Amino acid sequence: MNTTARKSPAFDVETVRAEFPILHQEVNGQPLVYLDSAATSQKPNMVIDAISDYYRGYNANVHRAAHYLADKATCAFEDARIKVADFIGSTTPEQVIWTRGTTESINLVSNSWGGTHLTEGDRVLVPALEHHSNIVPWQMVAARCGARVEEIPVTDVGEVDLDALANMLDNRVRLVACGHISNALGTVNPVEEIVELGHGVGAMVLIDGAQAVAHAPINVEALGCDFYAFSGHKMFGPTGIGVLWGKRELLEAMPPWQGGGEMIETVAFAGTTYQGLPYRFEAGTPDIAGAIGLGAAVDFLNSLDRSAVNTHEQDLLNYAVERSENVEGLVRYGRSHVNAGVLSFLLSGTHAADVGTLLDQQGIAVRTGHHCAQPLMAQYQVPGTVRASFALYNTRAEVDRLFEGLEKVRSLLF
Ligand code: PMP
Repeated sequence: MNTTARKSPAFDVETVRAEFPILHQEVNGQPLVYLDSAATSQKPNMVIDAISDYYRGYNANVHRAAHYLADKATCAFEDARIKVADFIGSTTPEQVIWTRGTTESINLVSNSWGGTHLTEGDRVLVPALEHHSNIVPWQMVAARCGARVEEIPVTDVGEVDLDALANMLDNRVRLVACGHISNALGTVNPVEEIVELGHGVGAMVLIDGAQAVAHAPINVEALGCDFYAFSGHKMFGPTGIGVLWGKRELLEAMPPWQGGGEMIETVAFAGTTYQGLPYRFEAGTPDIAGAIGLGAAVDFLNSLDRSAVNTHEQDLLNYAVERSENVEGLVRYGRSHVNAGVLSFLLSGTHAADVGTLLDQQGIAVRTGHHCAQPLMAQYQVPGTVRASFALYNTRAEVDRLFEGLEKVRSLLF
């Protein structure tokens, strides 16, 4: 078995790792192997420094004051919006709405768009492999409006069943809400085809891009979806900040969902008028440092050769899959050939949580459990899996550590 970290000519993983201070530490007496980036990615110096510079040098509230610090903070905050807009191929920065993350972005759409467009008998279709944050908000609004949330079947290998989706579509389907990449399995969903299918019956299509933004360049306009949601913390940015992108005409027609400062034009007891995009959806003081940090994460990703990053990540995953095939009793979940960043598995005769704990004792961080995808776990009839997830800073040597760790787990548990 080749255990040396293979470097792509255009991508030097060691140079990239050097930018992530957290990775260079020992956990339980072993060098840390961080394989939990699907839960949250680690942060490069550029992001940490951008946040620290803001708090040390120009902390002030945005948009409201005529002083130097407020002006500097406002420029950096809005500059970050422009960076994110360019990063995802949005025609205008106003279509980039700051939220707390994917969850809040989806709740914004479900409350604002869903609350005004869904009526008795309408249907919302969601694949069975979705994260709870792309299921529960739809159930909540559906319960209020008399609509129904229905599950789009997922095949045994963990792919959205497009034939089944096509058969489910009719003119009562108002929305198809689908993840770009599954956090539980890593399946890359055929979102272009799903957008086309949804639009074929006049439905809106929302894509949950939480797992996709760190792995591949996104172009929301080319994709043609109506809404695209993602979180900063999964793409090397900070927690507490995320984005809802939407088609301009849709966003403009949607009512605000939270009221307060920033989102108004005029307030009177006789009646209040609201700001235009994006501010009508950004009530209250935003996460200024978070937005600036996310802008820095975009700079970080833009400084890399994304296709070389993709080759590196795919190499890691292929290598992990190859090694997993030699582990006795290892059952892999999510066997689609279009997979990004995730190895989800169980060791027969063991509990996922025990495997996670015993790996942690060797300094290896993985996630165990249902991965906020209980309907999918129910389909596989398992309470949860062990999930090793890879990011651009992982190495083949770390994949080796995972499998050496699993051998040890086997020797301890059997
Ligand atoms: N969707 C997917 C596919 C996810 O992986 C996650 C986070 N695990 C979410 C939504 C929710 O993201 P957040 O908790 O950042 O709002």
